[in-house]
Amino acid sequence: MHYHSGIRPAARQSWIKQWQLVLFPGIMLILLIGIVAGGQSLRQQIETQDKSLELNLVRGVHDFNQLQREVNRLRLQLTRNPTTSTKNLNLQLKITQSRFTIIQRHSLARNLNTQVATIKDHLIQSWLSLKPEIQRWQLDPSNTKLKTQIIDQLDNLELDINQVSLLHQRQQWKQYQSRIRRHSHSLQLLSIITILFCGFTLLVGYLLMQFVRARQRLLEKVEQLATIDDVTQIANRRHFNAVFAQEWQRMLREQSCLSLLLCDVDCFKAYNDHYGHQAGDSCLFQIAQTIHNCMRRPSDFAARYGGEEFVIILPHTQLSGAQAQAQVIQENLQKLALAHAESSISDYVTISIGIASGIPQLELNAHQIIEQADKALYQAKAQGRNRSCFSEF
Ligand code: GH3
Ligand code: MG
Ligand code: MG
Repeated sequence: MHYHSGIRPAARQSWIKQWQLVLFPGIMLILLIGIVAGGQSLRQQIETQDKSLELNLVRGVHDFNQLQREVNRLRLQLTRNPTTSTKNLNLQLKITQSRFTIIQRHSLARNLNTQVATIKDHLIQSWLSLKPEIQRWQLDPSNTKLKTQIIDQLDNLELDINQVSLLHQRQQWKQYQSRIRRHSHSLQLLSIITILFCGFTLLVGYLLMQFVRARQRLLEKVEQLATIDDVTQIANRRHFNAVFAQEWQRMLREQSCLSLLLCDVDCFKAYNDHYGHQAGDSCLFQIAQTIHNCMRRPSDFAARYGGEEFVIILPHTQLSGAQAQAQVIQENLQKLALAHAESSISDYVTISIGIASGIPQLELNAHQIIEQADKALYQAKAQGRNRSCFSEF
């Protein structure tokens, strides 16, 4: 764990983020499923309509063909076989009549255009007038004139049936074609809507992600600002309090050594008086950065404690290690060589360090350790500054 960044995970915020991220795609997914399901049912509907249309077409053609065949049979019976028995003829008449009835009641009658409907009516009228004539001829089979007349009429009837069948076929085929075209157009439209919807979803999702990321960055920045000291750009007192409480508990649990270093700039009031407050700030910044750069382990933590005081937490570090660290800091400050004309102990800026070191115990608290480090610091000041003193707990 590296605390210097000052960014610690905020569970509540990340939960809100996840919740927001799931909401939009969730709604869009539900809508998409709706569109796909709607499209599927439309497709099925269209398919059934197409099938019934196709069936009508086939059935219509079949019915007209049957009628034509029966009329043809009737004609043949009359032409080829002069000895046609009345029984056979009556049977054929019945069959032909039933075929006409089918055509008359034809389900397609509703779909017939005026031309087909007129010819169909004409067919039925012709048949209605022809039937009594055949019956009349049956009563007088020697009337050849009547017979020829009937055969001619049957011939014409057959031709008319053929014509109406073809017309009907053409008309139905046209209807079928335009219906299929319309259906394929609606399916195309549906596909385009689905694609546009997916594109829109992706776009909005992307923008939402960008927004959430920007918000997250802003939150991180705010959190960072709240944990970083403005003058020295290292962790502030608030952040130190949180980290120290955490490390204290961790070392208490692990029963491992913890060292706390309290550093105070020597004769800093005189520095401020001599060089001015702004130079004082810049001096504090350089000292803070030097201290911060001396941190070696990821869990080592330096913060500004207040005024010209800095504090360092060294987890898993016993007294000897802490003393070595204090020495490193003082040596580095020496190398930095910030001039201090008014110091009573050196020509350069120095610091005194109070160290508190030991293994955390239940009967102790973090606050007492800070007090111990402060006492050690006071001792270092009293012994002449620019040095470190320690206290063990
Ligand atoms: P000692 O060696 O005993 O520590 O003496 P000292 O002068 O350093 O200690 P003292 O507590 O008398 O003075 C600390 C000074 O630090 C007083 C104040 O002007 C200065 N100071 C505290 N905070 C800041 C700051 O943020 N910027 C500047 N420029 N100076 C500060
Ligand atoms: Mg002080
Ligand atoms: Mg001081």
